Amino acid sequence: MSTFQAPKGTYDLLPPRSASFLAVREAISAPLRNSGYGYVETPGFENVELFSRGVGESTDIVSKEMYTLTTKGGDELALRPEGTASVLRAALQGNLHKLGGLPVKLWYSGSYYRYERAQKGRYRHFSQVGAEAIGAEDPALDAELIILADQAYRSLGLRNFRILLNSLGDKECRPVYREALQDFLRGLDLDEDTVRRAEINPLRVLDDKRDDVQKQLVGAPMLRDYLCDACKAYHEEVRALITAAGVAFEDDEKLVRGLDYYTRTTFEFVHDGLGSQSAVGGGGRYDGLSEMIGGPALPSVGWALGVDRTVLALEAEGVTLDIPAATSVFAVALGEEARRVLFATVTELRRAGVAADFSFGGKGLKGAMKDANRSGARFTVVAGERDLAEGVVQLKDMESGEQTPVAVADVVETVRAKLA
Ligand code: ATP
Ligand code: MG
Repeated sequence: MSTFQAPKGTYDLLPPRSASFLAVREAISAPLRNSGYGYVETPGFENVELFSRGVGESTDIVSKEMYTLTTKGGDELALRPEGTASVLRAALQGNLHKLGGLPVKLWYSGSYYRYERAQKGRYRHFSQVGAEAIGAEDPALDAELIILADQAYRSLGLRNFRILLNSLGDKECRPVYREALQDFLRGLDLDEDTVRRAEINPLRVLDDKRDDVQKQLVGAPMLRDYLCDACKAYHEEVRALITAAGVAFEDDEKLVRGLDYYTRTTFEFVHDGLGSQSAVGGGGRYDGLSEMIGGPALPSVGWALGVDRTVLALEAEGVTLDIPAATSVFAVALGEEARRVLFATVTELRRAGVAADFSFGGKGLKGAMKDANRSGARFTVVAGERDLAEGVVQLKDMESGEQTPVAVADVVETVRAKLA
């Protein structure tokens, strides 16, 4: 009989590798929690219109990648393909922008779904940790987010990543540029799809990965030359603040990113060890999004970092995370009486906050010691009938190999003292 497999483009997180995912989520969120960002959790699905309006009809995400469904009640829903639109919707619905001061700073962690061509680093179910700072136009906020992402990656030990930075202008200057770019693109020899894209979302053509397209783009008008004075000054301030923080970045005037809602600051974190799925995270300012989904004007900025690709990047760099062993003490009981005594000891250890595990399944000494080794425990507590007759257990230090008898009643205190 065949067994079930995880659906195409998905994979399971299993121990021991799953520990890296938890550690990455923890490391990315730690600087945020330390910087005034509050935790937000939203449903795994939303009304499809939130994304078609918020992310944009012309984007790959909405036009090709969204998992949509009609409920039995007739609602049109989509599995969330990204976090920003949902988080902003939740902030508006919860009136967070009216209750406290602005900006509202939020962070999240969760699963996202996109119907993509599955390959290494590109999955149909993946996980992100993200941050949004809602309701303030302040270059220090853009800088803060970039600096915190840099801090998160560095705290993981990641080194070979680069920060690409650009400004997409605003509603004053971008339309002028858009027309100039469209004029230029109309003179090129492009395939039908790309011609269509040039009409709907010409900036995305700059992002085309194909060589023959990139060759033709030499000499295209650059947004940098069209930025209005306000956008220019804003961008200069962001750059200055990041530079002052000692965070290196590269100006990338072709960086446009796949979502329609970005304005001004846009950035991407790329890693050079990941092949074509090089973006480990990205974000930017989205001053118009709130109004696009029916809210008041709330200029905002945010990012989302991909957990899956961050783990791949760590593996590519050969970074092993310092993940402490899950178990400190492993109990090996030989015989029925010892089982009862040591099971009680394990329970006591756990209640005292010591990570402890037990040799289940009635194994002999050899098999049970194998389990003890595999657990990574620093100490093993072994007891057989003869030990119990003397009122002791054998406490073995798995590092030194040293073994000492300890009175049953003193095990918890002795172990705690040795671990401290
Ligand atoms: P790409 O250009 O690689 O498709 P994107 O611009 O669509 O990326 P974003 O929407 O900005 O990605 O999402 C932020 C991060 O989430 C990405 O940098 C990446 O690390 C991760 N991510 C996005 N899509 C996927 C996916 N299908 N599988 C795994 N991770 C993903
Ligand atoms: Mg994508």
